Amino acid sequence: MQAFSSVLTRRPVLSSRTAVSRIGTLSRHFSTTPFAMAPVSKEVDFLVIGGGSGGLGAARTASAKFGTKAMIVEGKRLGGTCVNVGCVPKKVTFNAAFIAETIHQAKDYGFSLQETAPFDWTTFKKKRDAYITRLNGIYERNLSNDKVEYVHGWAKLLSRNSVEVTLDDGTKTVVNAKKILVAVGGNPAVPPKIPGAELGINSDGFFDIETLPKKVALVGAGYIAVEFAGMFNSLGVETHLFIRHDTFLRHFDPMIQETVVKEYERLGVKVHKRSELDNVTKDETTGKLSLHYKEGEGEGSIADVDHLIWAVGRTPATYGIGLEEAGVKLNEKGHVVVDEYQNTSVENIYALGDVSGEVELTPVALAAGRKLAARLYGPEQFRTARLDYTNIPSVVFAHPEVGSIGLTEPQAVEKFGRENLKIYKTNFTAMYYAMMDPEQKGPTAYKLICAGPEEKVVGLHILGLGSGEMLQGFGVAIKMGATKGDFDSCVAIHPTSAEELVTLK
Ligand SMILES: Cc1cc2nc3c(=O)[nH]c(=O)nc-3n(C[C@H](O)[C@H](O)[C@H](O)COP(=O)(O)OP(=O)(O)OC[C@H]3O[C@@H](n4cnc5c(N)ncnc54)[C@H](O)[C@@H]3O)c2cc1C
Repeated sequence: MQAFSSVLTRRPVLSSRTAVSRIGTLSRHFSTTPFAMAPVSKEVDFLVIGGGSGGLGAARTASAKFGTKAMIVEGKRLGGTCVNVGCVPKKVTFNAAFIAETIHQAKDYGFSLQETAPFDWTTFKKKRDAYITRLNGIYERNLSNDKVEYVHGWAKLLSRNSVEVTLDDGTKTVVNAKKILVAVGGNPAVPPKIPGAELGINSDGFFDIETLPKKVALVGAGYIAVEFAGMFNSLGVETHLFIRHDTFLRHFDPMIQETVVKEYERLGVKVHKRSELDNVTKDETTGKLSLHYKEGEGEGSIADVDHLIWAVGRTPATYGIGLEEAGVKLNEKGHVVVDEYQNTSVENIYALGDVSGEVELTPVALAAGRKLAARLYGPEQFRTARLDYTNIPSVVFAHPEVGSIGLTEPQAVEKFGRENLKIYKTNFTAMYYAMMDPEQKGPTAYKLICAGPEEKVVGLHILGLGSGEMLQGFGVAIKMGATKGDFDSCVAIHPTSAEELVTLK
């Protein structure tokens, strides 16, 4: 198992072929002088620090669409968190878990399937890794097609217009830029200081697990912990989830919190409520962990844990990259303070994506990056381009899937007052489960929160099969300002679960 500390310092392993081609590219980028010599200055219009969703969106738009001389510096792997240790490998794993569930449900539809061996995690991981490597290559080719210079290295601000880049071989070079975008994302938060905490791994380490564990423990109540716990459980792993309160997904509507917690317990996830780990020890012979914890008023322990995964939040990667020295203001959590146009406190330096901590999702970073590039380098009509951060849909790939847009019920009550709201709710058993034994039947629940006499939809919360795919279309309607009447005027699609949302009484 990979220790926590080593996960944090992990660097990409480059094949010799890749390394050679990158060095070749870099020498073209900077000069023909050998790297061992003094730093070579390079001038660009737009320097983007961080090759994740936000940085790529901004650099590619600036260069391909508006002809800007742009450079992107990435220290790890292109695609950032989403592609390498986030959305993409997570969703692929979720798909595997979904297939596991379907296999178990298939007999209720008359199939006679027999699993002759446990899920082959090792083969699956190899294929997943290969897919990510392919994506890394595609991202690199996209940059080249869009004429963005790509430098593999670590960037540090020297001033408002210059950045020092440490290349893979340790050589430092300086790039001067008219404008600089900080899109460095974040890292998994460091776990609490309890004895043995370092024996655990974080969400990055999840993607390094080589074999199917028998027993895992996760700490955290956010979507990452909940998604991982659901996947492990579906794949037949004994799964313990430690949360500090009575529910998880606490930023979501109470209907979602309560229903999903209940469903996880029904599915067999051991949810340790109002719990906190005290210490972790490792059996040096077996390599397995023992966890000791407080739970409610009592305490307990579990042994033979293959992996402990800390999923206790994320922190912006703003430390030690010269931001404060360049005068860029950070907030108390370390996020870069930006205005609605992604301007930082320093002229010519911009920030977006997870590093500015607004809404930490890939499409948000990407959209903000594209808007910024259009505003900075596009024609006049883009001068006020900016991302509207309201009504951003989000999905949790839990079991079942969860989708949410707009205000939760408590937020809507606070904003509009209970007397100005009308809440429509339903819960039912989706037709997919009609053929199944009761223990296979998952919940479906929808809530529509409407405000004012016109019943404008200000919140929509759904859970159940297909919620992830469903939400995108409803998101468009809500973004356009749809009312309950608009929902009702759309003829239902039958038989679907989604039709319940346009026939709510
Ligand atoms: C487990 C997990 C699952 C997720 N699932 C989803 C999901 O399903 N849907 C969704 O929308 N979002 C999901 N996210 C969130 C999503 O990954 C992030 O919101 C998104 O990647 C943010 O993009 P970004 O460009 O701001 O930062 P990042 O993607 O983190 O990119 C920042 C890049 O900057 C590089 N960098 C940092 N410092 C430097 C430096 N000094 N010099 C050079 N390079 C540097 C980093 O190596 C990194 O590649 C998930 C995240 C995690 C951790």
